[in-house]
Amino acid sequence: MTDTENLNVITSRRLLVTGGAGFIGANFVRHWCGQYPGDRLIILDALTYAGNLQNLEGLDAVRFVQGDICDRSLVDTLLREEAIDTLVHFAAESHVDRSILGPAAFVQTNVVGTFTLLEAFRDYWNNQQQPSHYRFHHVSTDEVYGSLSPSDPAFSETTAYAPNSPYSASKAGSDHLVRAYHHTYGLPTLITNCSNNYGPYHFPEKLIPLMCINILLGKPLPIYGDGQNVRDWLYVEDHCSALDVVIHKGTPGQTYNIGGNNEVKNIDLVQALCDLMNEMAPDLPVRPSHQLITFVKDRPGHDRHYAINATKIKTELGWMPAQTWQTGLRRTVEWYLSHRDWWQPLLSKEHSFYQQIDSVSTALESSCVELTNQSRRKI
Ligand code: NAD
Repeated sequence: MTDTENLNVITSRRLLVTGGAGFIGANFVRHWCGQYPGDRLIILDALTYAGNLQNLEGLDAVRFVQGDICDRSLVDTLLREEAIDTLVHFAAESHVDRSILGPAAFVQTNVVGTFTLLEAFRDYWNNQQQPSHYRFHHVSTDEVYGSLSPSDPAFSETTAYAPNSPYSASKAGSDHLVRAYHHTYGLPTLITNCSNNYGPYHFPEKLIPLMCINILLGKPLPIYGDGQNVRDWLYVEDHCSALDVVIHKGTPGQTYNIGGNNEVKNIDLVQALCDLMNEMAPDLPVRPSHQLITFVKDRPGHDRHYAINATKIKTELGWMPAQTWQTGLRRTVEWYLSHRDWWQPLLSKEHSFYQQIDSVSTALESSCVELTNQSRRKI
C-alpha cells in the first residue's frame, strides 16, 4: 500500500505533542481537539517559565504529562503505553534574548532533546515493523536561514542555513538531525519552518503581547534599534491549520516553509497596535498610546529581515493563510483585552527576565569593548 492509500484508511490518530503547554503547542492542541475529537492526544511538557497549564484549560479529554523531552525512559514509556503513531514536536527554548543570556539550555533542549525524541521514536517505530503512516513532525523556524539583505529572494526550502543566534543555531542543529534520521534510517519525518507567530496565549516576553500589555498598563513600548527590522507575521491559528495539512498530506522526508504573506516593519506593527488599542480599549492610562514608543539599544546580532516563500505548501498541499496581519492583529488585541486574568499573573516572570536582560546587555557591551581592545593590542 502506498503512503497516500494508507493515509486514506487511517480514521484516527494517537498524538504525542511535546511542548503542548506553550504558545503554539497549546493553540495546536486546541485546533486538533476541535477538528478531530476522536483522536487521542498526550501532551509532554516540562512546564518551564513558558509552559502554562492555563493554556489548556477546558481540554478535559487530553492527557497531560509533566516531564522533560531529554528523559528517554519517560518518552519510551509514553510511546509504547499510548501506542502513539504521530509525534508533533514543539518543545523548545524559544526566545532569542534568553539564548544570548544562557545558550546552554538551548543546546540541551533543542538539540539533545530532539535527538532523544528521534532515538526513542526510531526504536519504537522499528519495533512496530516500521508502519508507513507513522509521523515525526518537527516544528522549526525561518530563523535558521539567517537574515536577508534588501535584494535577496525570500527564504525557500532550499535556502542554505545561516543561523545567527544561539537559538537559531540550536534549531538548525535539530533540523539537521531530523533530516538525517529520514535519510539514514528512513524515519517518516516532516519538518516545517515558519515565520513569527502571534495570537492568543503568547507569553508576554515577545513583541506583540509585550506591546499590547504595555499599552494597557501605560508603560513604555521598547523597540530595538531603528524599528526598521522586517518580520513576516503568521497568525497562530493559520500556523496550526498548516501543520494539520502537512501532518495529513505532507510527504515524509520533506520540509515545508509556512509564512503569513505579511511582511511588516516592527515600527509599523507597533504603530498599528497603538491605533487598535486607541480604538478598542476605553480606559487606556496614556492616550494616544503612540507617545509610549521608545527606541532602545539594538539586540546583539539582530537579524534585519526575514521573508518566507511559501509556494511549496501552497502548490503541493493547497494551504494558504486566512488572516492578513491587520485582521490577525485585531483578533489578538481583542483576546488580550478580554483575558487579563491570563496575562496578569505572568508579568512577574517577564519582569524578572527583563532585569536580567538589562544586565546581560551591559555585560555584552563591556566584553565587546574588551575584545576590541585586545585585538587592537595584538595589531
Ligand atoms: P514556547 O516557548 O511558548 O513554548 C515552549 C514549550 O516547550 C513550553 O511549554 C515549555 O514548557 C516546553 N519545554 C521547554 N523545554 C522543554 C523540555 N526540555 N521538555 C519538555 N518541554 C519543554 O514556544 P512557542 O513559541 O510555542 O514555539 C513552539 C515551537 O515553534 C518551538 O520549537 C519554536 O522554535 C518554534 N517556532 C516558534 C515561533 C514563534 O514565533 N513563536 C516561530 C517559529 C518557530
